[in-house]
Amino acid sequence: MPRFDYDLITIGAGSGGVRASRMAGKYGAKVAVIENSRYGGTCVMRGCVPKKLLVIGAHFGEYLEDARGFGWTIDAARHDWAALIAAKDKELGRLEGVYKNLLTGAGNTLIDGRGVLADAHTVEVNGKRITAERILIATGGWPVVPNVPGREHMITSNEALDLKQRPQRIVIWGGGYIAVEFAGIFRALGSQVDIVIRADKVLRGFDDDVRAHLQNELTKKGMTIHAGTSIAKVEKKGVGYTVTLASGAVLETDCVMCATGRSPNTANIGLVEAGVKLNETGAVAVDEWSRTSVENIFALGDVTDRINLTPVAINEGRMFAETQFNKTPMKMDYTNVASAVFSQPPVSVVGLSEEDARKHHDVTVFRTAFRPMIHTLSGRDQRTLMKLVVDKKTDKVLGCHMVGDDAPEIIQGLAVALKCGATKAQFDATIGIHPTAAEEFVTMRDPVAVPTPGGEKR
Ligand code: NDP
Repeated sequence: MPRFDYDLITIGAGSGGVRASRMAGKYGAKVAVIENSRYGGTCVMRGCVPKKLLVIGAHFGEYLEDARGFGWTIDAARHDWAALIAAKDKELGRLEGVYKNLLTGAGNTLIDGRGVLADAHTVEVNGKRITAERILIATGGWPVVPNVPGREHMITSNEALDLKQRPQRIVIWGGGYIAVEFAGIFRALGSQVDIVIRADKVLRGFDDDVRAHLQNELTKKGMTIHAGTSIAKVEKKGVGYTVTLASGAVLETDCVMCATGRSPNTANIGLVEAGVKLNETGAVAVDEWSRTSVENIFALGDVTDRINLTPVAINEGRMFAETQFNKTPMKMDYTNVASAVFSQPPVSVVGLSEEDARKHHDVTVFRTAFRPMIHTLSGRDQRTLMKLVVDKKTDKVLGCHMVGDDAPEIIQGLAVALKCGATKAQFDATIGIHPTAAEEFVTMRDPVAVPTPGGEKR
């Protein structure tokens, strides 16, 4: 008679939980996966996937406009928001089926319900208690809405993906990934977009040149950025809303979207009762093996607030399964994790920003900004930025940054180069593919002049 019902109980069937459970199942473990919403989690159901489908859908508007410069006549193009949402929903339904099949195909038992830890080996779900040798917390995160008057009138990215109608006017609060991605979607489809940020520029944490360049491009697309302020209150007014900013400005709008960050889903799942400690940011505290303060309880993905990206959660899941169920101890390497912001134009980076690099290195910076070939004929006023940050002493490329079409596709390849420790000399020795934007990354010869030791300015 086994001591426990299962070898592993996973709470949360998002990217990390699914990968860990599938692999553990394949290695012979008896696994139960508990999910209280849809299989696939934030990325597949409420984040990356639906968002990217909407980004692609919205971008056709610009393609159609740009085509005119190439001799096309396109009359009476109209967009049907409801049709896009329906097509997106159909795809999500298909993907949820795929995720379920992957789990059951690996022998996992799926339990629909809310899992709550009763003790270190017991989970209560649907009024029943089940036990496991190991428990994995992969409950992800959820949008945070600051406590201002009228917060109940705001939507978050969850609802923005399912709006019945596209708002003609939208105010978006925040300047992070989610804010600029949704701003791009709504603007490209014709909405009036106001972005409210408390900082002076969007995308805190990114390279300063990248932030300035994107902000300029967003403004050129007709978005209004209210910098250095915040939303003070939101009031319902007829079918719309009145938004008062801390600066005193008043905006009339049809929709207010809050994108001021996400917080880990740790409440009411019995973590404290089971002795699992949280860190100072409220995330589950884990060691390099994703082990919590309780020996047999592990956590990974956004609930641990390390790097909140799907591929990172997937890798944490893989490392956990290899270590715990395949006798192959593996740890996640968090260096040079590339990321992308699917704004319009998109941003993508791997490695250090110039500001972060300067904290520990003497650096040389290479930078170019140019009009991409498509816009020489389309006439669109859009420029691409590329930047390399290089260690002066070792010649290693410390950071690659791009704002412009195809940036995520280009940076993914450069991420391999940085993982291999590529030097600037090796970039220079690489022959470009002509004519592409990407070739600029291997043809930047002249460093940006350094006017002061404090940093470089354009
Ligand atoms: P971010 O942390 O990226 O951005 C939050 C924004 O809200 C910032 O501009 C921040 O301002 C602002 N903010 C935070 N708190 C307040 C407040 N109290 N009042 C006013 N403004 C505030 O969060 P997101 O929700 O956009 O995204 C969450 C995470 O999800 C990301 O960090 C990323 O890891 C992941 N993600 C990844 C995507 C991708 O890979 N493409 C897409 C979407 C999400 P300030 O800059 O001043 O701090």
